[in-house]
Amino acid sequence: MKVINLENITKSFADNHVLKGINLAVDKSEVVVVMGPSGSGKSTLLRCITSLEAPNDGIVTVGDYKVEAGGENERERKATIRKLRQNTGFVFQQFNLFPHKTAVENVMEGPVVIKKMSREKARRLAENLLEKVGLADKCHHYPAQLSGGQQQRVAIARALSMEPMVMLYDEPTSALDPELVREVLLVMKDLAKEGMTMVVVTHEMGFARDVADRVIFMDRGVIVEQGTTDAVFNHPKEERTKQFLQDVK
Ligand code: ADP
Ligand code: MG
Repeated sequence: MKVINLENITKSFADNHVLKGINLAVDKSEVVVVMGPSGSGKSTLLRCITSLEAPNDGIVTVGDYKVEAGGENERERKATIRKLRQNTGFVFQQFNLFPHKTAVENVMEGPVVIKKMSREKARRLAENLLEKVGLADKCHHYPAQLSGGQQQRVAIARALSMEPMVMLYDEPTSALDPELVREVLLVMKDLAKEGMTMVVVTHEMGFARDVADRVIFMDRGVIVEQGTTDAVFNHPKEERTKQFLQDVK
């Protein structure tokens, strides 16, 4: 079963053609790692999946929610985008937590505000999720009192609080000190093992080797090459992939 289906997605900023007709289907419980040089369109691709950027052309489907570029009914389209976003967890490079809310309050926010869950129930849910990401003892800490790795784990718990169909990660460990990367990757790995569908933009080759069902290599707005980690890392076909792998190794 497909959870994400992208059909011929194109996106330009003025005359900068950032995505040039991307087709991508992601199955339930599949983990897809996206790699590629800076500026190749990886973030824009993730942002198009959740309509944080509106594609110029193409169709994005996440679960039952289908958003077509230039779709006719604006109100219906906005309602669909809202639902699609509620069902999609997004984890950014910068953790984007509310600084004046504690960890547990950050995680409760979505269920209370969007799902109208009672505060009591949302608090229990948030505590369970923080325990799941290894932060049971940090529930009442503010973001400034947490390390980057801990903040990112709160951000993951927050995304999970909405029970998303899919988790999208945009370089979730790039802003972290090297010694904090592992704890975040371990949480992501556990989620993958539980069957979470994930699209992860990262250059962490070890994570990709351990967790990815498929690696996609993007360059200049196209998918240049994709396959298993063994195929892409050990037997790349395209010159651009070979070059990139040499650079990141
Ligand atoms: P990557 O994540 O692979 O580094 P991005 O998707 O962030 O690449 O960016 C791809 C290209 O799109 C870059 O040339 C970038 O400058 C441009 N771009 C991204 N977002 C915007 C924006 N909001 N406005 C204008 N140009 C943008
Ligand atoms: Mg990016």
